[in-house]
Amino acid sequence: MTTLLIKENYVKELKNGYPLILKDAVENEDASIIEGTLVKLVDNKGQYIATGYYGVQNKGVGWVLTRNANEQIDRAFFAKRIHEAVTCRTSFFEADDTTAFRIFNGEGDGIGGLTIDFFNGFYMVSWYSEGIYTFREDVYAALMEVVNARGVYEKKRFNVNGQYVEQDDYVSGEEGEFPIIIQENGMHYAVDLNDGAMTGIFLDQRNVRKVLRDSYAAGKTVLNTFSYTGAFSVAAALGGATKTTSVDLAKRSLPKTIEQFSVNAIDYEAQDIKVMNVFDYFSYAARHQLTFDVVILDPPSFARTKKMTFSTAKDYPKLLRDALTITAPNGVIIASTNNASFNMKKFKTFIDKAFKDSNKRYKILEQHQLPEDFQVPHNYPEFNYLKVVVIQVL
Ligand code: SAH
Repeated sequence: MTTLLIKENYVKELKNGYPLILKDAVENEDASIIEGTLVKLVDNKGQYIATGYYGVQNKGVGWVLTRNANEQIDRAFFAKRIHEAVTCRTSFFEADDTTAFRIFNGEGDGIGGLTIDFFNGFYMVSWYSEGIYTFREDVYAALMEVVNARGVYEKKRFNVNGQYVEQDDYVSGEEGEFPIIIQENGMHYAVDLNDGAMTGIFLDQRNVRKVLRDSYAAGKTVLNTFSYTGAFSVAAALGGATKTTSVDLAKRSLPKTIEQFSVNAIDYEAQDIKVMNVFDYFSYAARHQLTFDVVILDPPSFARTKKMTFSTAKDYPKLLRDALTITAPNGVIIASTNNASFNMKKFKTFIDKAFKDSNKRYKILEQHQLPEDFQVPHNYPEFNYLKVVVIQVL
């Protein structure tokens, strides 16, 4: 165990439950510490604060694992944490119209850098640093003690800049015949756990897909931008949208979106699926005087194309202004971002700015953050990265 001396102004928060070991918080930061080393955090009097592990990722240099000096970090420790997390999600395991959800959400469940998702009997483990990956054997053994898995897959998300490490993601148990079909509030989604970084569905938007289907789609035209596999388009179509339009520049989005419509018995030929840059689509739609009753904006935090870079922190107001030009009178915009670098309050200032700049008035109908299975640390809302605002144009 290596001792890390914590600077005085970080001690209180770490004692209170702040889970992250920030690079700036460490007095004797030492680049030679090996990933996965257990670290004892102490204050300048040498008093114990917490035990954690060293694992560098974009947020910090490691995570707190326990504030009890006597607790061993071993297989039993991981089993206990996973068991607690699974117990909290009993209602998800029992629901018969939802078969995909998160069972372990990193720091929210006491182990930063590790998430585990359930997909209809299969488990997908995501590792966010080489450090946490050194505990792989104990974590898998612990998971097997706690749950009954059909099969296990993993994503290593600790290449340069937290990128996914390309590999065969199969770990153990039954090999899935992908795509497998999961259910979410009665909707169906095709999921592939062994096809690169993404699975086909972002589970954190479950509640937003539900309200789109149940409250906003009936009889409406719906534009889904940055649509990926068209998960929102499926929800809108099932909610009675007259037509959906999905726009994403990735070529794979076309067959993937057709697949998602098809597993829900929706005729994809009655929907529009465009493989193109969203910003080009806005101009195209404006030129053709197309308007939409509902517009969904769910861009990546940061994207670079040949022509431009887009960053939600900088360009969200512009994205909203563009969207407003093709939103029907009294239309609804569902504005979403998963950028952890700003909070809901800041996001709402972007919304306000865009409407002021466009000389339009609006009303916020509802807002969403992470769903219940994406547990976040109490008192530290900054880990609740998802922000979704449903806006009525007046
Ligand atoms: N809203 C989706 C997830 C979006 S992921 C869902 O709920 O499932 C981000 C997507 O944005 C990716 O599929 C990527 O291909 C796409 N993308 C990034 N920049 C884009 C751009 N300028 N125009 C269109 N699509 C873009």
